[in-house]
Amino acid sequence: MASVNSISHLPYFFGNITREEAEDYLIQGGLSNGLYLLRQSRNYLGGFALSLVHDKKVFHYTIEREISGSYAITGGKSHRSPVELINYHSDEIDGLVCLLRKPCNRPPGVEPKISQFEDLKENLIREYVRKTWNLQGHALEQAIISQKPQLEKLIATTAHLKMPWFHGMISREDSEHRVLLGTKTNGKFLIRERDNNGSYALCLLNEGKVAHYRIDKDKKGKLSIPDGKKFDTLCQLVEHYSYKADGLLRIITDPVPNPDFHLTNGQLHLGQTPTLPKRHSTKSLSPVPGRSNDSTLLASFNNYVSRAKRDDQTALPMDTEVYESPYADPEEVKAKNVTLDRSLLILDEQELGSGNFGTVKKGTYEMKKGKKTVAVKILKNENNDPAIKDELLREANVMQQLDNPYIVRMIGICEAESWMLVMEMAELGPLHKYLAKHKDVTDKNIIELVHQVSMGMKYLEENNFVHRDLAARNVLLVTQHYAKISDFGLSKALGSNEYYKAEHYGKWPVKWYAPECMNFFKFSSKSDVWSFGVLMWEAFSYGQKPYKGMKGGEVAQMIERGERMECPPACPPEIYELMKLCWTYNADDRPPFSTVELRLRNFYYDIAE
Ligand code: ADP
Ligand code: MG
Repeated sequence: MASVNSISHLPYFFGNITREEAEDYLIQGGLSNGLYLLRQSRNYLGGFALSLVHDKKVFHYTIEREISGSYAITGGKSHRSPVELINYHSDEIDGLVCLLRKPCNRPPGVEPKISQFEDLKENLIREYVRKTWNLQGHALEQAIISQKPQLEKLIATTAHLKMPWFHGMISREDSEHRVLLGTKTNGKFLIRERDNNGSYALCLLNEGKVAHYRIDKDKKGKLSIPDGKKFDTLCQLVEHYSYKADGLLRIITDPVPNPDFHLTNGQLHLGQTPTLPKRHSTKSLSPVPGRSNDSTLLASFNNYVSRAKRDDQTALPMDTEVYESPYADPEEVKAKNVTLDRSLLILDEQELGSGNFGTVKKGTYEMKKGKKTVAVKILKNENNDPAIKDELLREANVMQQLDNPYIVRMIGICEAESWMLVMEMAELGPLHKYLAKHKDVTDKNIIELVHQVSMGMKYLEENNFVHRDLAARNVLLVTQHYAKISDFGLSKALGSNEYYKAEHYGKWPVKWYAPECMNFFKFSSKSDVWSFGVLMWEAFSYGQKPYKGMKGGEVAQMIERGERMECPPACPPEIYELMKLCWTYNADDRPPFSTVELRLRNFYYDIAE
């Protein structure tokens, strides 16, 4: 397996640099066609990225490490190592913009940048998601995948709390005392907190004296020593000054371990010495409040996390109580009864939406563990048509089988004055309307949302359900950063069939339908992929109608001629490429949701840094 260590000797491997840094190196290298470098993926564990120049532009490709241990550019051929992949693409274009012609080597004196915090970060993210969102298994993995950039940021800004060199709020005198205790190695250092507003000090031992450098936080939350380089996190700052003195009296080398710190697994430390110096007695030193044992450490960590979140206003989608399964309560599971008690349901007058089936109203349902806001789809009373009732029951039957963070959950059905389908509430309503009203939503935010939809669709694909009405109007928002798929009125369980064959033409959303749906009445996850392409188009057009002004038949003709909708103005070219891939005429050649999701994930992680 090609670990970073076995690659770091390569002169064109730069380690854990950013996309921008890679572009800078390639510009310095002359921007000639085919110039390339290899870097560590900053967000994809065990992965790499290839940055390649073509036509004075830099293209970035993620090299994924596959489960088998081989390496591949997403969707491409597998190779045993990144080097093999590079050799291959030196002779074969095979999907790249051009051949790899010339390696861009590190300038003299520049070592590959290796991050010491990656593994630790990974562990902390897991711990955080498990504890604060109370998730396990598949849902835990999905939550981590969808929120990775935000989680990484959150964890990165608090990870110093788990570092032995961080001593919390101690006085200047105490910090000198701690640094001067024991060996007098030049480069010994610690970081202390000066106040609660994000001001710190770096205390560094140089020729028997302790130098104190202030670390201030600017308006944007960036940390820096006055006139020094700016960092998002203390860990990055420490990492930087352990490579480069950059204005300090010397580089920092040996962390002075916080005496109240219990080393736990996953701890990483700086310097060549693999073990830390012996722990000092805590007696002569004032203990740092809240750090004396693991549970208070976790409490203070959680405190910091909430503080970091507030400062940052990072709303993590899963923080909402909406995700929680209505059946998370064992009492509720015991009943496992989807028939609800009408007396526990209170309906609001407020209407959330309506259709020819009836209306959707807001309400509250009294669960065993408390009241929950719900959305209730109510059949029209005057409608005694049994076919409509069957439709609602079929929809309920599909929804009952689904359990995924990105799919609206059904709570149950209720037969009273009319038939009602009770669901969890997605307060912000349909995606297309929301975006039409909020044109300031960034493209990054839209990518986040459509990626979530692709995760929900991947789940449906894995479980052999076809949605058949995937469109922006049927994606509901819980928050601006949390989307859920809804409206399973046309959905079908495929069972072991490859596709569902409709018996006759119906009231179909034809502008969202793939050619095989229109021509052969065949519906599969691949036809949902086509609809997903239209959904992405709607999202990046901020809720515009697709194929504006055209009739269904005209759209079908346009598709048959091989024409497709144009790239919406706000849409990144990479996303438009993916849209067009979703609109591959032949269903067999169209990518499945597993591929679409991975593409979006990689792109999202890459820009969300
Ligand atoms: P239809 O089959 O008529 O398209 P939908 O299930 O899409 O029915 O619901 C119609 C409208 O009701 C949606 O567009 C949305 O505005 C509202 N709605 C439906 N379900 C919910 C929900 N769970 N939370 C909030 N609003 C909802
Ligand atoms: Mg709908």
